[in-house]
Amino acid sequence: MKTFYIETFGCQMNAHDSEKVVGTLVGRGYSQVQTPDAAGLVLYNTCSIRDKAEQKVFHRLQQFKREAGKGKVFGVLGCVAQQEGEKIFERAPHVSLVCGSASYTKLSELLFQIESGERRVTGLSLDTEETFETPLTRRDNPHRAYLTIIEGCDKSCAYCVVPFTRGPERSRTAESVLAEVRQLVDMGYTEVQFLGQNVNSYRDPTRPGIDFAALMRLAGQVPGLRRLRFTTSHPRDFVQEIVDAIDENPVLCNHVHLPVQSGSDSVLARMRRLYTRDEYMRRIEWIKRSHRDIAITTDIIVGFPGETESEFQSTLSLMDMVEYESMFSFKYSPRPNTSALTLDDHVPEEEKTRRLTIVQEKQRAIQIRRNSEMVGRVQEVMVEGFNQGTGQWIGRTSQHRTLNFTAPVERSPLAGSYLDVRVTRSSPNSLAGEMLTL
Ligand code: SF4
Repeated sequence: MKTFYIETFGCQMNAHDSEKVVGTLVGRGYSQVQTPDAAGLVLYNTCSIRDKAEQKVFHRLQQFKREAGKGKVFGVLGCVAQQEGEKIFERAPHVSLVCGSASYTKLSELLFQIESGERRVTGLSLDTEETFETPLTRRDNPHRAYLTIIEGCDKSCAYCVVPFTRGPERSRTAESVLAEVRQLVDMGYTEVQFLGQNVNSYRDPTRPGIDFAALMRLAGQVPGLRRLRFTTSHPRDFVQEIVDAIDENPVLCNHVHLPVQSGSDSVLARMRRLYTRDEYMRRIEWIKRSHRDIAITTDIIVGFPGETESEFQSTLSLMDMVEYESMFSFKYSPRPNTSALTLDDHVPEEEKTRRLTIVQEKQRAIQIRRNSEMVGRVQEVMVEGFNQGTGQWIGRTSQHRTLNFTAPVERSPLAGSYLDVRVTRSSPNSLAGEMLTL
């Protein structure tokens, strides 16, 4: 029996790519096992957004170097595969398959070559118009379905590897996206999350008039769909129309993840983010002026080359102006092929750590205050499961907040159902409450 094991590192795009890779393998008669030891084919779907992430896969591969030539096949997929290419064979000679995400449409062919005895095969072309769509996708989450609408990125932010690891932007047709949304609803999904490195620059390749806001409006009208989310946006392509679409239809979740990265114009320029602090704040104003209470989250990088104390202070003052619901914050990590590598004046590691701590403490204080304002309010949640440890149910609001709640045993909710919860307590990263209705 052909067995495989797959481990995924990194972002939601990678997680969903793995769901489609699993679908491709199952379609070829493979069955998935839970440990690399039990598998004939061992795959790592990798991330190279930061050096630490990249090193993880080589650490994994190192553990199996004695397996070379014993029939077990190793494959490296995703961003490190694309970034390192055939060099992976030198670092890990027991690897047979190296395939970047832009070549997943050829995965079946590559597997056939491996099955036919080829010692080493690669899929490393970035020259593609194609998007990775599979007849079978083995989704991990039974309630929220990821759906990639656009792959790759045409921007060139100075710190980012994505354009080099995922290739140019290519959008799926609206028809294929809407057909998949309908199919997911028929399968029992009520929540769909659109994915893309930059979903806002979505354009239907066959009907250019259908941009991201139009696609959201169309998808939001699919009968049976309760929630539609999307990530990740780019401020340069984020338009008022997107806020209007969210305002018009409660199926579109009132949450926008809008990575700012820095609050300083000079840093944004060195990062090649293509917007200024004022242009970014204008988009925040659009969101804050909306009829619905839209939650805003973001990404911030500290310690970008040359970042001065006053540039850093600009990031802190922007945080005070926006008051994000939550954020992902990182220290700048030099990455291969990126233009930031040519920049001088690197910020010392301990200074990066000091700045990251300040950002995270400030954000924690903002979240404590913002979450405390939710106490007493009633929120509709989608039930995601039960936490045996705390004895609480796990709920997620439309704003993408975690709301853990209690429910009388005799009225235990079903995972995937929707119900109202009154918020009774708050903490920095989540809310707690009691179930109101079933
Ligand atoms: S928009 Fe910038 S940060 Fe985002 S994926 Fe593209 S290059 Fe990377």
